[in-house]
Parts: sequence; C-alpha cells; structure tokens
Amino acid sequence: MTPRYSSRWPSGSASTLIPDSPQAASTASVAEPAFVASPVAAAARRSNGDERFVTEARFYHKLSNGRVHCTLCPRECNPGDGVRGYCGVRENRGGVLYTLVHSRVCAAHIDPVEKKPLFHYLPGTGAFSVATAGCNVNCKFCQNWELSQAAPEDAPAEFMPPEKVLNLALQYHCPTIAFTYTEPIIASEFVVDTAELAHRNGLRTIAISNGYIHKDALEAVYGRMDAVKIDLKAFSESYYRKTVAGELKPVLETLVALAKLGKWTEIVYLLVPALNDGDEELTALARWIKENLGADVPLHFSQFHPDYKMLDVAVTPVPSLERAKQISDAVGLHFVYIGNVPGHPAQNTCCPQCGSMLVERTGFEIQKMLIRDGACPFCAHAIPGIWCATT
Ligand code: SF4
Repeated sequence: MTPRYSSRWPSGSASTLIPDSPQAASTASVAEPAFVASPVAAAARRSNGDERFVTEARFYHKLSNGRVHCTLCPRECNPGDGVRGYCGVRENRGGVLYTLVHSRVCAAHIDPVEKKPLFHYLPGTGAFSVATAGCNVNCKFCQNWELSQAAPEDAPAEFMPPEKVLNLALQYHCPTIAFTYTEPIIASEFVVDTAELAHRNGLRTIAISNGYIHKDALEAVYGRMDAVKIDLKAFSESYYRKTVAGELKPVLETLVALAKLGKWTEIVYLLVPALNDGDEELTALARWIKENLGADVPLHFSQFHPDYKMLDVAVTPVPSLERAKQISDAVGLHFVYIGNVPGHPAQNTCCPQCGSMLVERTGFEIQKMLIRDGACPFCAHAIPGIWCATT
C-alpha cells in the first residue's frame, strides 16, 4: 500500500487507500506479559533502517534494571533493552524508550469528516487523514489490520513530518487534520507535534481513537484535539478481553475525562451479532452514557462486516441496529445514529425538542444543513456540536 492523496475533494468522493469503515478500528490480552504477547513484538530486534522516524518517547520512566516503564497506555509495558512494547512501535534502546513512527505515515488521504464518523463537527468539510502503523489492542474484527497489526518496517510508509502534513492539508483546503485508521495514541509524539503546528496555522485536529490511553497522557494527547471519536467496542469486560484484547474500564474513564475537559466527543459502537448486541448490555450502555456524559453525546451504532479474524460472523442485520437505536432513544439519548447503512434515515440529525430534521445525510454527503447559529431554526433549541469554523 503506497500512500496517496485525493485531488478530487470536495467535487468528488475521496480516494481510498485502505478499506472503508475505519470506525471499526483495531484494537489485544491484558493478562499476558505485554512485551511478549504481541505478534509485532516478535519483530522487536529488527532494525528499521531509517532513523528519520525515531525520536525519544515522551511518556515513560527509566527503571534501574535497564528496562523502561511506558506510561502512554494502560498496558504499562516494561520492555528490556532491544525490546518493543505490545504496540510494536516503541522500543527500548539502551535504557531509553523511542517511538519508531514519528512522521512515518503509512496512509494519507482526504475523507469527508462524516466518514470518521463525526456528525456534529464541521459537516460537509474534508479532513486530511493520516495514519502510522501499529495499535495497542488487537480487535478480531479490525478492518485496517494490515496496518494496525503491522510492525512499522513492514508497512510501506513515507517520511511526512508535521510541516508536510500541514502543507498538504492547506493545499487541499482541509480545515481539519485527522489522526485515524490505526490508533493515534501510540504515535502521540507525532500527533502532538502535528496538532500544535496545525493550531498555530489556523487548522483544527481530530483523533479517531480507541480511548485506551493512560490517564497521565490523556490530556497531553486528546487535549490537542478539537474533537475526538471514541470506538466503544462493547459494554462488557469479557468482550474487551476476548475480542479486543483490551479493557473496558480505562475506556470509560477516558470518556468521562473527555467530558470534564469539555472536548467534543462522539461514540461509535460496532454492533456485532450475538456478541455485544443484547438488550441488557445496550440498555446499560445507554444509561451509563446518559448518567456520566449526558444525553447530548452522539452515539453511532455501526454495522459489522466480517474481516480479519472474524470471518464467521454475519453482517449485522439492519433491524438489530434499529433495535439498538430504539433502546438508546427510550433511555433518553438525543442523538443516536445508525452507521454503515447508506440511505438509512437514522443518519439524519433531528431536533430533540421539536423533532424537525436539521441535517440530512446520504452516505457521507450532506443534502441539507438547516442548523443556524448552533440552534434549530424552528424552535431555537441549541444543538450541541461544532457547526462552523468560527465556533
Ligand atoms: S503505548 Fe501501550 S502498548 Fe505501546 S509500549 Fe506503551 S504501554 Fe506498551
């Protein structure tokens, strides 16, 4: 896969470098020793041969035995000299932890922001989207596994420092840079450097993330974003352990922290038949969101498609997605969407007060945008979100 850019936005659809539905981003087993559990870690002692991508990590402590203690994500790996953490992109070299993916962009192109999906963030605009290899979990259904589960040296990449990302975003008139397709947390140095440069030059930044981040790094990374989309994979620890190889609790803590930071956040829940679609689980999910984040946080139920290690599970039936929405609506969430089903009416935004349709979407395209000054034009009810570049 060679990175390439679309020159067709906004007059045509964006080109596709990697499979669609990046919202089904990857995610691996906390019970195992982190630095030996990952298939990527097996490649730990391979030389990547290109030091341009290597820079000292920012979230770690040196230990007295030559190991280092990474505090970027809840795995808290302690790799010894010459060994990488679970994610495969952070390596101990002589007692110093390095990231191997700074400016090592393995995918770049322009997406409508609706594809992330973010529905309450600058609708109808393009996001210059970049990814680096690796992930700190290992979802059995990952649609981008060829990048997310690859060692950096195994994913074709281009040297794309923050200045180049910025210039490309400006060149293609994108108001936003998106860190997406794989897990941006584990490339935090590159993400933060690029975000700071983007903000100094009037652009915005968004992260499409699994939320599996250490509390010590959370504000430093997500704090540089204008909006965040979190993939909440399920509402049970057992699913997170078996299917994601991660943990639910830190992700929920991330969502609460993002709310306290006042960061615009939307949640995607990939509904997988018979695995995370039970009425009880979905009711508990909706109640937790309402009680801890508020009724206005958009929740997207996304249709599952077989991929990677989960080829024996059927596509989510549309009635299952509709039932999930009905449950969340009944609990009182205001903005519940159905994703990956082009043309479904639950892709539109309606006013929670008067019921008027305010944003009409077909696939990733905006057909009508009626919100004015952040409010419903029919009843003046405030509609939460970032609706124009000056807000
Ligand atoms: S980011 Fe997470 S998985 Fe990667 S080395 Fe650090 S603690 Fe381990």
